[in-house]
Amino acid sequence: MIKAQPQGAQKRPLILSVIVPVYNESEGLAYTHKRLTQVLDAIPERCEIIYIDDGSKDNSWELVQSLPSSSSDHVGITLSRNFGKEAAMSAGLQQSRGEAVILIDADLQDPPELIPQMLEAWRGGVDVVNMKRRERLGESWFKRFTAGSFYKVMNWASDVPIPENVGDFRLMSRQVVDHINQLPETNRYMKGLFAWPGFKQTTLEFDRDPRAVGETKWNYGKLFSFAMDGISSFSIRPLRLATWCGLVTAFSAFAYGAWVVAKTLIFGEAVSGYPSMMVVQLLLGGIQLLALGLIGEYLGRVVMEVKQRPQYLVREVSHQDGVSSVVSL
Ligand code: UDP
Ligand code: MG
Repeated sequence: MIKAQPQGAQKRPLILSVIVPVYNESEGLAYTHKRLTQVLDAIPERCEIIYIDDGSKDNSWELVQSLPSSSSDHVGITLSRNFGKEAAMSAGLQQSRGEAVILIDADLQDPPELIPQMLEAWRGGVDVVNMKRRERLGESWFKRFTAGSFYKVMNWASDVPIPENVGDFRLMSRQVVDHINQLPETNRYMKGLFAWPGFKQTTLEFDRDPRAVGETKWNYGKLFSFAMDGISSFSIRPLRLATWCGLVTAFSAFAYGAWVVAKTLIFGEAVSGYPSMMVVQLLLGGIQLLALGLIGEYLGRVVMEVKQRPQYLVREVSHQDGVSSVVSL
């Protein structure tokens, strides 16, 4: 991992790192930067903003490099291709040097104006400040329903409680970030990884705005594989469920079999029972295929994990020190 070296000796310790993953956000990036720097300029301590360009196909990377300077240090990292938001956030966490680290989306769905409030909670001795969405504005009932069901399944499956409706927008202390950076897995399901270290946590509620400009990079296909990733990387409980399902089916089949044999011996057998045979066959076939698929999901992840490939590749890093006197407009 290449670390950007700050130019010149830095006198003040770096307190806050703000990580912004960017993928095809050229439309709104300048405005995001403006709102973010407005907030950070009002914070007396030294801050840095880390933009991770996740292999954007538009000119987001050129934009990142040409953003107007502010009192914060600006670090730009571009990955060699689109590795996904999880990898982009990992890259940002590895790069960050601040005592507190905040992850925030580039589309202004997470209001930067809440940063001072988050810092205050951290100063009060909390290690993780989770930001919980009070309402999911601009999202369909179907999205809200699927998201709600996802958290229910996830929390049933996982041994570590994953806070509901808490996205990636959060603050973490240096200690927590260092622990997360040391986790060796390549399949990084961040919602789970953030919850895994524990430490002192608090949750603040906020209203999540609709996207400022542009479109979400998610679709239901991606969300489904994201959910599968989450469940399979944090729990083997579905496999246990498959075992139980198999046991129940086997016992029922045994009982039913005994009954069929007894019935045939006592009453004889006219050729009948086609519907029940079909139902049983289809049911068993379905359950078997489902369990096989489940094993496949886990096996596939083991294959990916043993390859030990890096989570992302960095193409270029840029660094610009904060300017001490900024004329705010
Ligand atoms: N993002 C990214 N890589 C991707 C997809 C998204 O870095 O492959 C970034 C994106 O630029 C934004 C954040 O992740 O800053 C959240 O993306 P989006 O708004 O599409 O997700 P949603 O808010 O709909 O969950
Ligand atoms: Mg968004």
